[in-house]
Amino acid sequence: MMRGMTRDGDVATLLDELVGRALACRAPTPEQALALLETGDDELLEVVAAAGRVRRHFFGNRVKLNLIVNMKSGLCSEDCTYCSQRQGSQADVLKYNWVDAATAVAAAERAVAAGVKRLCLVASGRGPSDRDVHRIAETVRAVKERYPDIVVCTSLGLLSAERAERLADAGVHAYNHNLNTSETNYPDICSTHRYSDRVDTVAVAQGAGLSPCSGAIFGMGETDEDIVALAFELRGLDPDSVPVNFLIPVEGTPLAGEWQLTPQRCLRILALFRFVLPDRELRIAGGREIHLRSLQALGLHLANSIFLGDYLTTEGQPGEADLQLIADAGFVVEGREGEALPPERRDLVALRRRGTGTALPVNA
Ligand code: SF4
Repeated sequence: MMRGMTRDGDVATLLDELVGRALACRAPTPEQALALLETGDDELLEVVAAAGRVRRHFFGNRVKLNLIVNMKSGLCSEDCTYCSQRQGSQADVLKYNWVDAATAVAAAERAVAAGVKRLCLVASGRGPSDRDVHRIAETVRAVKERYPDIVVCTSLGLLSAERAERLADAGVHAYNHNLNTSETNYPDICSTHRYSDRVDTVAVAQGAGLSPCSGAIFGMGETDEDIVALAFELRGLDPDSVPVNFLIPVEGTPLAGEWQLTPQRCLRILALFRFVLPDRELRIAGGREIHLRSLQALGLHLANSIFLGDYLTTEGQPGEADLQLIADAGFVVEGREGEALPPERRDLVALRRRGTGTALPVNA
């Protein structure tokens, strides 16, 4: 299969081949992956439908909900250009030191009530000290004591084997450490640690028995080749979950001016990730609202997991709107499979009191 295909038949053949491979958990070839990214906007629905078949095969119509708790915000020593918490960041984000266990338990309470299955405890910084690991362990114990069924993931930066084991012993189930961008592109987005440091940390977490979670950020100047390389690199790491972020260009960060994504490109990237990682939890992470916008529902046909509500330093749409999105699109929150019908939205019915027949201008 060659790149640059434009004829309908070629795209249909490509998608058939990709679906066949994915259902057998086989990766696309790099050429097929690039060809998928090169499909046109007029072929988008075919792409979503094809990748959606794979998503439904492995995950049905379930959407897993996750909640981020930013345990320590801002003032990081690292210089990741996309991050509003980086050293020297001029972004007006919340800055605070470690919040206590009770705060995390309170967050878990609201999250569990909303159907969240996984709590992601995140802290800024290069990596946790022994004291930080102790703090997180205490928090995890408090959360698990109150909500034994919630799954806890931590994301604390670069990790040693010993600290990874201590986290596992404390009841942490998963460890997140994103690769973020391709190895080639990595020096352009960070100078204080290397791509290989990130790869090593994923392996360390895995070695300690933690479920590896590793994903990406798009919209940072990457090429299609970078996207494909990263997707295959992630597949090689054998992660259980893969968050896909779309850059939130926060004012005061070096990438504040980078608005490179369209909703259609985001969907093609998600489709590619579904084909490359067919049976893995694919999570639409930061940037969902601002980049997918009114096409968020199509994203649910590709990804089987989202963050509910807010992100680390930016706000998402209201959690209620996330739940409404899932219900309207015909999906169900994982763990709440009985509740399939969208609620009535009488609040959206407004009798017209403007435009023709009134003294007010038309709504245009
Ligand atoms: S991504 Fe993490 S390591 Fe990089 S600057 Fe932000 S908080 Fe620090």
